[in-house]
Amino acid sequence: MRLVLLGPPGAGKGTQSARLVAKYAIPQLSTGDMLRAAVEARTPIGLEAKEIMDRGALVPDAVVVGIIGQRIKEKDAANGFILDGFPRTVAQAQALDDLLIREGLKLDAVIELSVDENALLARMQNRVDETRARGGDVRADDNPQAFKTRLDAYRTQTAPVSHYYAGKGELKQVDGMAPVDAVSVAIEEALTR
Ligand code: AMP
Repeated sequence: MRLVLLGPPGAGKGTQSARLVAKYAIPQLSTGDMLRAAVEARTPIGLEAKEIMDRGALVPDAVVVGIIGQRIKEKDAANGFILDGFPRTVAQAQALDDLLIREGLKLDAVIELSVDENALLARMQNRVDETRARGGDVRADDNPQAFKTRLDAYRTQTAPVSHYYAGKGELKQVDGMAPVDAVSVAIEEALTR
């Protein structure tokens, strides 16, 4: 199973990915997680990405395409993967098509979690509060200012990715405002449609 999960920040992509990982025994490939690991490890990519990520802007296409191009060739991704947070621009979606063609692979589905934008800021704030209550580390970009930039990036650069897949007849939309379990059921239904 090779899936792309689309949706704005706070739509629940991470939560639903984790459930799909458990169900299908395939890895979640989150470019955000990989970039945060690179920042933490102070690799050259991490050093380049840190300031961009802290602002809430998108890192250059070539950087994330390079990361994903290597990652999907790793052994644990041989039977499939869930792309979470990639592609985020039409150029990335086209680069993914090229990568998949070169590897002789195909996407099984592109699922978009549709959410009411007004709910997203509150969801982010909840995530911050829950993380703090657990004593965990709050993401540097989980603050109102960076979140606004992330939403703007989503509207201008990532929303066209939905149109790109819709145009190819590959997009399936799921109501991301429903309770978490109901969203999981809707994703399962979309996968069998
Ligand atoms: P996320 O964890 O998916 O919310 O990503 C956190 C941040 O990492 C984003 O705000 C971007 O700065 C960067 N990022 C993650 N994935 C991508 C991508 N596919 N293209 C560009 N930047 C990305």
